[in-house]
Amino acid sequence: HQGSETREFSAEVGRLLDLVVHSLYSEREIFLRELVANSADATDRRRFEALTDGAQALPENAKISINPDKDARLLTISDDGSGMSRDELVANLGTIARSGTRAFGQKLENAKPEDRPSLIGQFGVGFYAAFMVADKVDVVSRRAGTDEAWRWSSDGKGAYTLEPATRDKAGTDITLHIKSDADEFLDPWRLQAIIRKWSDHIAWPVTIMREGKEEAANEGTALWRKSRNDVTEEQLEEFYRHITHNFDKPWDTLHWRAEGTMEFSALLFVPSSRPFEFGEQMRESKVRLHVRRMFITDDAEILPPWLRFVQGVVDTEDLPLNVSREMLQATPVLSRIRKAVTTKVVNELKTRAKDADTYATFWENFGPVLKEGMWDDPTYKTDVAALSRFRSSAVEGLTSLDDYLSRIKPEQDAIYYVTGDNADVLAASPQIEGFKARGVEVLLLCDPVDSFWPERLGTYEGKSLRNVAQGLNDLEKFGAPEASPAEKADMDTLLPALKTVLGDAVSDIRSTDRLVSSAMVLSAPEGGPDLQLRKLMQRSGQ
Ligand code: ADP
Ligand code: MG
Repeated sequence: HQGSETREFSAEVGRLLDLVVHSLYSEREIFLRELVANSADATDRRRFEALTDGAQALPENAKISINPDKDARLLTISDDGSGMSRDELVANLGTIARSGTRAFGQKLENAKPEDRPSLIGQFGVGFYAAFMVADKVDVVSRRAGTDEAWRWSSDGKGAYTLEPATRDKAGTDITLHIKSDADEFLDPWRLQAIIRKWSDHIAWPVTIMREGKEEAANEGTALWRKSRNDVTEEQLEEFYRHITHNFDKPWDTLHWRAEGTMEFSALLFVPSSRPFEFGEQMRESKVRLHVRRMFITDDAEILPPWLRFVQGVVDTEDLPLNVSREMLQATPVLSRIRKAVTTKVVNELKTRAKDADTYATFWENFGPVLKEGMWDDPTYKTDVAALSRFRSSAVEGLTSLDDYLSRIKPEQDAIYYVTGDNADVLAASPQIEGFKARGVEVLLLCDPVDSFWPERLGTYEGKSLRNVAQGLNDLEKFGAPEASPAEKADMDTLLPALKTVLGDAVSDIRSTDRLVSSAMVLSAPEGGPDLQLRKLMQRSGQ
């Protein structure tokens, strides 16, 4: 048994606490959302651990209770979750595991005030929000499956203490010593309103002590299980904000129920903006899997990685509640659900793609991710190709492959593309001069993934994808560059003028289709030695 001790926060935590407390003042109420979310996570975790490694089982009436005490100015949030060991208290509440404070600070500075609360969730710094409303926070926790409890305390100013404590069952109590200017958070009605606003859908019961009685605070409805007509737009948006930590409205909402050979409900969202650090943070789909309302895991990879921007819930009857990770890997139920959900999303995107303007917003955010599907998903690569949009040498804005094909020359059997870092640079690049001059359209590809997929995709609608570098020999097939009538007229005046000026110095001046943007080239008379040979001859004095 280790004894009491005082420890310093990691330097990062110190700076972060300052940032959170000072920049989010007007949004203080979200501290409750964060603490309740942590309790719900811990309860999910305990349920799951009990299934897989026999840790102490979750009590049947597991709940999250909120207990304000006006006289003592204390607000306590208690749960029956996994709890934390001494080491976990140090690791989870004394350091910052995931993201640096610097990135967080910069992001906060640039964010509009109404967007700031979501950053707390995105950066995994929710616990520290407690210090917005409390001068001191005590955490008493007992890890499920153990019999020792620990108290973590801090005033949020640089250090925290740890000491042995008692708790008669596993779980965690977070007690906030409410600041003198934060009375409102001791009022049960105010707390109730905050829960309704932010945490209504939490799957575990949330209760509030009011006049000595424990009252239910959340509805706990599994929104996705209701029929479409029974759910309001506001409820959907609130749920969206909860699971994505975004503050915008979804770009698209898919809500449906599959019946027949497979039974599941799904509620999925496509965000209307790209979540911060989206690319680096996640590589796999985090769509949540529920079985009969109960959260099971967000690791089931219900959607393929190239649809990982889609977020939401899939809830099925077709798996047992005590499904384990191993079983999830093996069950054909899950692969059928994956296929059905993926196809649904792809078809939805095809529908939405018909409106070019709104689709362009989506493409801007998630196009580079979607395109990965052409590289790593043989089943869907053609669908993804049809959904993809590109810059092109021939049109303003974005084009699809189908539109490209509608413009090709009769003798053209390939879709030409060039890769680089910047579409505007590519548009002016000598690499595609010859194509442009012959009226052959070239796609300008500049995402990193563009170096990979064209070869994998191979063909689209029977036309092969061909890099312009490999397509140079094709140029002949398209004949001479097309000169405009104005260009031809210019030539007709330019050539005689040049002849007059240069006189006997040249034997002839002609126009040529060998060049596209260079002005002129010297060439040897037909039948005589060529230019390179002439130079050599001159040098040797002949
Ligand atoms: P995040 O929830 O994004 O990880 P937080 O700052 O909200 O970040 O919480 C930090 C960590 O502290 C959590 O990941 C979890 O491990 C631990 N934690 C917080 N609250 C609880 C709780 N009530 N029960 C168990 N663990 C908790
Ligand atoms: Mg949290």
